[in-house]
Amino acid sequence: MSEKIKFVQRETLKEKPDPNDLGFGKYFTDYMLSYDYDIDQGWHDLKIVPYGPIEISPAAQGIHYGQSVFEGLKAYKHNGEVDLFRPSENFKRINNSLSRLDMPKVDEEVVLEGLKQLVDIERDWVPEGEGQSLYIRPYVFATEGILGVRPSYSYKLLIILSPSGSYYGGESLSPTKIYVEDEYVRAVRGGVGHAKVAGNYAASLLAQTNASAQGYDQVLWLDGVEQKYVEEVGSMNIFFVENGKLVTPELNGSILPGITRKTVIELAKNLGYEVEERRVSIDELIESHNNGELTEVFGTGTAAVISPVGQLKYGETEIVINNNETGKITQDLYDNYTGIQSGKLEDPQGWRLVVPRY
Ligand SMILES: *Cc1c(COP(=O)(O)O)cnc(C)c1O
Repeated sequence: MSEKIKFVQRETLKEKPDPNDLGFGKYFTDYMLSYDYDIDQGWHDLKIVPYGPIEISPAAQGIHYGQSVFEGLKAYKHNGEVDLFRPSENFKRINNSLSRLDMPKVDEEVVLEGLKQLVDIERDWVPEGEGQSLYIRPYVFATEGILGVRPSYSYKLLIILSPSGSYYGGESLSPTKIYVEDEYVRAVRGGVGHAKVAGNYAASLLAQTNASAQGYDQVLWLDGVEQKYVEEVGSMNIFFVENGKLVTPELNGSILPGITRKTVIELAKNLGYEVEERRVSIDELIESHNNGELTEVFGTGTAAVISPVGQLKYGETEIVINNNETGKITQDLYDNYTGIQSGKLEDPQGWRLVVPRY
């Protein structure tokens, strides 16, 4: 077993929130993982410390110039054990995001080991109810206090934990209404759309606000050049069922390579569905809807898991998918995916990682 990392205990533990009122990302556990980088020492001082405010220079580069990346994954409890779901994929991806913003990479094994020890300490915070999990948020930002525009010489990595209910509040799958954004764009090829960087979200908020004001839950982004091809939704990748086949936009450099997307593709193939990764235009979708070939639409992401789409609005055109009900294939994938995550189904691919007791 690995060596225990430094652990700074707090004097009193917090009161746990009401498990029926968790919401998403509202409550945080007693401890967080902290790891520092500076140009002389590299990554150092990995430790578990009380969750709480941190001191930061007003000139910190992360605030001014946006060197800031993050990840999101979940831990589940079943039969008294706590599992992480494909955590190595998240640390692989955080390194891709770090590279893209010219930030120093981390040793994926070291950070994963730190996370396992943190979650072990916090195992009582992992909720057990239907659809509930411990949401895990690793992130890295630039801390050097200097206003010159260049990569920072110092960074901080933190991992905070938030016991969370199902993303959309309700328990069952309820279809969402989506606004196809035809004015703003999220990302362009060669930019940072494929990296999980804070700025992508900053750039997306105005369109989200406008869509919400018109009664839509989320925005579907089109490509940044022609605004013709479908890319992804807010914090989800998107899938369509056309003629019984699953179709999802191919990873083209401006789409975030979701781990749920990757898992759903693998799972769907194992279940015998045909999956195509290719360019999908919004015109194709409307036409195939009109021909009765587009039968289901759903989004995939760690927070939202698998989320059916019931309505799409593009300009003056509004289409209703599958009578605004969750489709059969969406439900099948949801049941299998959440069954594996929650430990109710076998895990032949070894996606679950049991958190050891240290
Ligand atoms: C995180 C994220 C996703 C979903 O990725 P998962 O790994 O499945 O959680 C999709 N799109 C964007 C823009 C994201 O930031």
